[in-house]
Amino acid sequence: MSHAFHSSDASALRPSACPGLLRIVPALDGGICRVKLAGGELSAMQALAIANVIDEHASGIVDITNRANLQLRGVKRGHEDALVAALLDAGLGPQNTGHAFADDVRNVMTSPVAGRDANALFDTTVLTRDLLTLLQSDTRFAALSPKFSLMLDGGERLMMLDHPHDIWFSALPHPERSDVLFAFGLAGCPPVVAEHESAFAAVAASDLATFARALVHTFLDLAAPDDTRMRDLLTAHSAQSIVTHAERKSGVHVLRDASIQHWRREPADASRRLGAHRQNDGERRHVGAQPALGRMTSATLRGLAELARGNERATLRMTPWQSVLLTDIDTTNLDATLHTLEALGLATTADHPLTRVIACAGSTGCAKSHADTKADALKLAAHVPDPTQVHLSGCPRSCAAAHRAPYTLLAVADGHYDLYHTHDPRDPNGFGRCIARGLTIDEAADVLQASALPPTDEPFDA
Ligand code: SF4
Repeated sequence: MSHAFHSSDASALRPSACPGLLRIVPALDGGICRVKLAGGELSAMQALAIANVIDEHASGIVDITNRANLQLRGVKRGHEDALVAALLDAGLGPQNTGHAFADDVRNVMTSPVAGRDANALFDTTVLTRDLLTLLQSDTRFAALSPKFSLMLDGGERLMMLDHPHDIWFSALPHPERSDVLFAFGLAGCPPVVAEHESAFAAVAASDLATFARALVHTFLDLAAPDDTRMRDLLTAHSAQSIVTHAERKSGVHVLRDASIQHWRREPADASRRLGAHRQNDGERRHVGAQPALGRMTSATLRGLAELARGNERATLRMTPWQSVLLTDIDTTNLDATLHTLEALGLATTADHPLTRVIACAGSTGCAKSHADTKADALKLAAHVPDPTQVHLSGCPRSCAAAHRAPYTLLAVADGHYDLYHTHDPRDPNGFGRCIARGLTIDEAADVLQASALPPTDEPFDA
């Protein structure tokens, strides 16, 4: 089949270093191709297509990203066009929009159980699709940084709330209204505790897409040439002036009152990404599982595709915890589904050591890495005390985590790490406080197990 797009199209349009489906970026282990998945969703047919593609044209490995997309690694030189064509044939990529730049537009971050979560205030499924279409079809948005991002939170219990977004919307129960409102803010996350910055204001759900479009246009209207993210714009313009500009542009009525200012979002529960949980129909379950370090082989993908096919109505979704989730599993298939996931090597319970560590590509895949973070994370996992969570990062860019893990091991040399600790997943001071320097993995395991960490504010050298 011939396609309107080729692997060079996106590169020709925009000088970005970020990988996309059309822009395969070189890395130490070969090319990287990033496949954006609307709502993290992948059909069984697409999962099989990717499994075949990575076996033939890449290294047979795919990583789930912290934005619930897929990253195909080790694309072989000379195979780029064939790989792109096969992915487009499977219905992946920007082909339905007619715009190559749509490949670069960031996904809208939603809950992986949108439309299924029993606690949600609003089913964001249709609205997410509308927002993504809007972002991918307005040619002016080709000028946005590929990192410019939106969050749409329906109030689900399983929702990644700690990734900062340029614009976020979060469903808000309002005491005086029967319809659902969406609180919103710029360059941040929905507030959960009193210390968090309040929502700026709110809009009705029916106005959200129009208002979001106006906010993005406002960003482009006001941005200086070097402003790529909303936080840059906020250094020269107040949030008030940005919102007023968007309000005028869209004609949408923005609600500002004390209840919105005082609103705090219900805490989310990341443990619901694992195991089986009852859906909003009271009958079916969503079932989640964690591949080690978010990495899957073609065999794992084929197994997941078979599971999705074998469960009538099931959908397969990637999550921002670099895990997978199947929706709409009938209770009669529950045990078999969990058993198959475990047989594929995926962790389905939070007490599994592999759910305690995340790691970036590391030195086998990335030239910036000071250590083999993937191998070191696997070595460390069994020694991390429950429920501690540890992030191993090859350099300060933190590709594996957009939030702050309680503990971060930042590589400083092969097999050696500085250890950071924070209580705040939104810590504005990077990874938090450095509590030990130059640790080997064995030493890091000892420090983590001693969870009573050194009673000193001074970093020590191991
Ligand atoms: S965090 Fe640094 S070392 Fe790790 S993949 Fe990203 S750029 Fe490479």
